[in-house]
Amino acid sequence: MSLTYLLPCPCGQKIPVETTLAGESVVCRQCGQTVEVPTLLRLKQLEMVSIEDSKSAWGTRQKVFLVGLVIIAAGIGVTVWCLLTWPLSPADQITHDHLVQYIDNFTLLGTYREWETLRRGVTPFPGEEKYHAAVTHHQFWLVVCGLILVAGVVVLIVGFSIPSQPRRIE
Ligand SMILES: [Zn+2]
Repeated sequence: MSLTYLLPCPCGQKIPVETTLAGESVVCRQCGQTVEVPTLLRLKQLEMVSIEDSKSAWGTRQKVFLVGLVIIAAGIGVTVWCLLTWPLSPADQITHDHLVQYIDNFTLLGTYREWETLRRGVTPFPGEEKYHAAVTHHQFWLVVCGLILVAGVVVLIVGFSIPSQPRRIE
């Protein structure tokens, strides 16, 4: 933290200037005018504000950016995890070999029972309900990922809006 004075610009904007800028000029970020910074003695009569110095102000910006990037990275990470572990439908997992083996193992009674089952209507594949629950679960996480990514973008925008200190004119 360093002492900063608010130098009024003709446009009405108050330019924060540090004591190290006394006797020099700064460019107003609002209107682009070059404003003379008074000498140290007169500078001290101006309105004073205690804000972070330019280095740590940039640091704050960087930190906010970093947080935003970490949030976005986390969002992408969870999205990738979510897509990689997306549940397979039990119907998709049944291979031709499985099916042949299943049918080969049918006894006459088993076949009759299967036929009876089918006659009562198509029953869901074993594990079908579990599969749907897993899909719902994953869809929920995808929505969460979307929200995380949006939050990350918002943090980045906030980082962009943090003003940097006026630059010294050489
Ligand atoms: Zn101005």
